[in-house]
Amino acid sequence: DDGLPGKVAVISGGVSGIGLALALAYARAGVATVLGYHPGDPHDPEAAVRAVREQGGRVLAVPADVRDRAAVDQLADTAVREFGRLDIAVANAGILRQAALAELSDEDWHAMLDVDLTGVLRLLRAAHTRMTSGGAMVAVSSIAGGVYGWADHAHYAAAKAGVLGLVRSLGVELAPRGIRVNAVIPGLIETPQSLDARNSLGPEGLRAAGAGIPAGRVGRADEVARVIRFLTSDDAAYVTAQHVVVDGGLTAR
Ligand code: NAD
Repeated sequence: DDGLPGKVAVISGGVSGIGLALALAYARAGVATVLGYHPGDPHDPEAAVRAVREQGGRVLAVPADVRDRAAVDQLADTAVREFGRLDIAVANAGILRQAALAELSDEDWHAMLDVDLTGVLRLLRAAHTRMTSGGAMVAVSSIAGGVYGWADHAHYAAAKAGVLGLVRSLGVELAPRGIRVNAVIPGLIETPQSLDARNSLGPEGLRAAGAGIPAGRVGRADEVARVIRFLTSDDAAYVTAQHVVVDGGLTAR
């Protein structure tokens, strides 16, 4: 028994990519989900909700810009109000931008950290006050945040490195309350973010990059989601303040 059936999870950035794959995995595992979405983004929250319901999941989508503390608090409140409790929080929302050091403005820097680092803090802070013993949190970092230097992405890398420090410290801080905090470090995963040609790779770049990965291909969103599901289940009951790299061997060579 992995302890998941009957639990309630919030996922930021939950209507696309890794977040949506996780919502689908939770639906199959009997976990109800509240999916936060960025009101300005093109991803269709209703389509995500339909897909999760098709898997038998109880689900709601709520507008929650992770730059807005009150909106993130409301996201966590929605789980408690609509589903009666909050057991799992996954800080998945994130943006990817490219900027060489000479072009990296203070505004770009702050905008990146506001979403990819402070956005994680906002969700974990909101969630921990609404959780009881047995709660579990996961934040999504990146290989760029720990084990892989990525030219022209210093702000992204700094934010994702910050996530690892946040998780390690909060894991220790919340352990006495029975709340676990871990991170996943995805490598190259095919999602709307990595497919967006305005970012670094685009569809062509992604395909080409796959050949250089020991596994011979880029990863799928559900392959990251399964690791997050594991980390938030009772199968990982003694795992906290850690991170798991999910990269097909990319950073091990
Ligand atoms: P994605 O773009 O599908 O997912 C990111 C989600 O975050 C989107 O739904 C987007 O709307 C949401 N978001 C962006 N800004 C937001 C805001 N201010 N408030 C609320 N939501 C916001 O791409 P993904 O690859 O599934 O990304 C999920 C996470 O995985 C991100 O944190 C990303 O940095 C991380 N990651 C992805 C890869 C990869 O190769 N795809 C690699 C390493 C890390």
